[in-house]
Amino acid sequence: MQMMSDTAVVPVRRATDGRVINAMSVDVEDYFQVGAFEKTIDRADWDGHDLRVERNTDRLLELFDARDVSATFFCLGWVAERCPQLLQRIVAQGHELASHGYDHKRVTSLTPESFRADLAKSKKILEDAAGVEIKGYRAPSFSIGATNLWALEVLAQEGYAYSSSVFPIQHDHYGMPDAPRQAFRPNGGSLVEIPMTTTELAGRRIACSGGGYFRLLPYGISKRLMQRVNEHDGASVMFYLHPWEIDTDQPRQANAPLLSKFRHYVNLRAMYDKLDQTLRDFHWDRVDRVFLDTGNDSLASAA
Ligand SMILES: [Zn+2]
Repeated sequence: MQMMSDTAVVPVRRATDGRVINAMSVDVEDYFQVGAFEKTIDRADWDGHDLRVERNTDRLLELFDARDVSATFFCLGWVAERCPQLLQRIVAQGHELASHGYDHKRVTSLTPESFRADLAKSKKILEDAAGVEIKGYRAPSFSIGATNLWALEVLAQEGYAYSSSVFPIQHDHYGMPDAPRQAFRPNGGSLVEIPMTTTELAGRRIACSGGGYFRLLPYGISKRLMQRVNEHDGASVMFYLHPWEIDTDQPRQANAPLLSKFRHYVNLRAMYDKLDQTLRDFHWDRVDRVFLDTGNDSLASAA
């Protein structure tokens, strides 16, 4: 598969003050469904855990509403089955609903056939719950990369307009270090892949797209890296977080490996305020309006 395309998918979008508009996204899954704990917590036991994703996502909806930010919510089908009204609230507040697969299986563990079945199942559950068409997808644990680029073709065949699944960086659990850093059309087809955001410093790619990196780094550093993406790279940031990242009272997984626990729990306490600050310091909008050619001319007011 040809990864590169010569031309940008869409010109970078700017607000009326001239500053770049970035994309805010939430991966809607609960604390017991994350990749870090997949060896500690069995899928068959998920229903035995205290479900906290709904109230945590509602807190994010309140915060986004207070800061006048629209976002994209990549939801698990499993969550949609249990909290259909949450999806309706997401849509009613003007946010974009997209898919995070059914039950957080990494695409690297699936065949083209089982991936296609997972996409179809989760799309139907989300669309039935919320009454809107699903056109965006994010792979669990950014599990699309050099070994399974066929997944991008399956997504296009299944009618998705975009994917945000490739992390163009070196990491022990995911990543495709030589993938394009900006949005591109694989094979020049209709699907747009929007990689997680990195910037280059001294020839090295640094992740600056939210999640664990954002929790780990002091806010001032994250802010400067994202400003560099906007001002030096002339690009929009694709930012992501999870509802459990603002939940300091979530049950602790004592038996998980130390590194997994560190990655999951580091700086949870500071996350809500850091997120609030970043909502105020940058312009944000839904993924489809930032990265796709939607013909939407109300962007300036969305900032
Ligand atoms: Zn996830």
